[in-house]
Amino acid sequence: MNPKELFAESKTIIPGGVNSPVRAFEPYPFFVKEAKGSHIIDTEGNDYVDHCLAYGPILLGHSDDDVMADVYNQMKMGTAYGAPTENEVKLAKEVIDRVPCAEMVRFVNSGTEATMAAIRLARGFTGRNKIVKFEGSYHGAHDYVLVKSGSGAACLPDSAGIPEDTTKNTLSVPFNDVEALTKLIDEEGENIACIIVEPVMGNIGCVEPNVKYLKFLREITEENDILLIFDEVITGFRVSRGGAQEYYGVKPDLVTFAKVLGGGFPIGAYAGKKEIMSLIAPAGPVYQAGTFSGNPISIQAGLSTLNKLDYEFYGNLARKGDYLRTNISDIVEDLNLDLQVVGLASMFQIYFNPEPVVNYEIAKKSDAKRFLVYFRELLKNGVFIPPSQFECNFISGAHTEEDLDKTAQGIENALKVAWQ
Ligand code: PLP
Repeated sequence: MNPKELFAESKTIIPGGVNSPVRAFEPYPFFVKEAKGSHIIDTEGNDYVDHCLAYGPILLGHSDDDVMADVYNQMKMGTAYGAPTENEVKLAKEVIDRVPCAEMVRFVNSGTEATMAAIRLARGFTGRNKIVKFEGSYHGAHDYVLVKSGSGAACLPDSAGIPEDTTKNTLSVPFNDVEALTKLIDEEGENIACIIVEPVMGNIGCVEPNVKYLKFLREITEENDILLIFDEVITGFRVSRGGAQEYYGVKPDLVTFAKVLGGGFPIGAYAGKKEIMSLIAPAGPVYQAGTFSGNPISIQAGLSTLNKLDYEFYGNLARKGDYLRTNISDIVEDLNLDLQVVGLASMFQIYFNPEPVVNYEIAKKSDAKRFLVYFRELLKNGVFIPPSQFECNFISGAHTEEDLDKTAQGIENALKVAWQ
């Protein structure tokens, strides 16, 4: 079946034709046959340089030979046990070794589960109910955080099916705005359990924190006995060996991970200070559990992946990011377009927006129609990115200079068409 027919059929039996909303785009998405390294190939044999990278998990490149060999080996020994394994201890040690705030770790199955559990833990620890998130941040698809959310939920009204009672304790403020948060904490500080933040807002594109903003978050939370949670589901093990907290030098109380940690397999984790993490069941009274938590396949894939991620790897990857961003900036300048080329390390995006984007309000003013034209043209040029400015594009260790040059050329061609 061709992708048009497949999508038409899929829509009759899978809501919207996809199993996660961001994957659907008009007139129809391509269907994947396979992926290897920096490339993804569709059912019609079209080959794309992949900068979607499964929305972030793929850091070494698709189907890395070493990781796959270890995973096959593990598969032969069983795929789920319901009893602990030594590898879980090894991976926990690895996370603790890398991540400044991590003294204890609990593995779960997704980023959604990780943030849900971390928020419950923060509430259990502080005895307070309210939480603060930032407008446009995305922390997964659970009820507490689907308020003014980014990613696939960006520009949609908040989800139906969530009782007001559940979200009445979720407060949100604009990112990078010291005054707004100071005012909120003046009014509500003693009721707030935690502030959860994506240190780099990767679900409204790629918005970095202003210099000192993360330090301000650390100070104001400490002064008010509020826990600071970094949601590093995107930035964790991607922007540096120890994630954004290492990159920016700010240590939160708790951190959440997923994506890269599973080396291409489903995983999530939350970690933090022993004093707080010790409250989790069965050690303490905050309940959290999962049949597949610590799944041996995902844990093996995570271990094998992290084993390959040393400072040298991150240095090389950052150089690839700089190379591509510089090339894109030059193209934008040569074409005389007023756009924002943004990103850090292996993350990048172009905002079709004349204004520097520092928060969701400004991100929303970006030209979505033109971006869609650009996205479709990029596909025609053999480059795959997420179909929205409210997602981030990624680079993997498998991307070659040739790949990045093909991407830059594709971007030039696509921008020309979008501005015709
Ligand atoms: N937090 C952030 C920052 C994310 O980007 C995402 C997913 O994109 C999540 C949480 C949810 O993770 P998952 O899709 O694994 O549930």
